[in-house]
Amino acid sequence: MERKLSRRQLLRGAASAAVLIPVVQLGTRPAFADNKVSEDEPMAQALNYVHDIDAHPDIPRPDRSGVAGADQYCYNCGLYVGEDDWGPCSIFQNRLVAGPGWCTAWVPRS
Ligand code: SF4
Repeated sequence: MERKLSRRQLLRGAASAAVLIPVVQLGTRPAFADNKVSEDEPMAQALNYVHDIDAHPDIPRPDRSGVAGADQYCYNCGLYVGEDDWGPCSIFQNRLVAGPGWCTAWVPRS
């Protein structure tokens, strides 16, 4: 038995899909997207996290795993997943840290 859809049914289906697609996209959007780590929060302070390490020459960055301290930034840290100015860091439960930032948990990328 073949059932044909009426033009009205097709339009209704298309309208429903148009409403549902943005809802589905919102549901899959990473929860960390607008959740930047603040330098003032306790964990950031405990790890000496700053958004721009070059603006803080007072914070010592020891050489680690063959990488000079001066070459360590969030954007080349093994715990940083982003490629933009801000990216998720697993130490901060995937909340966003600044690419030019740094903290004492820095590890080289493998
Ligand atoms: S763990 Fe790495 S990416 Fe995360 S704040 Fe520290 S230096 Fe930046």
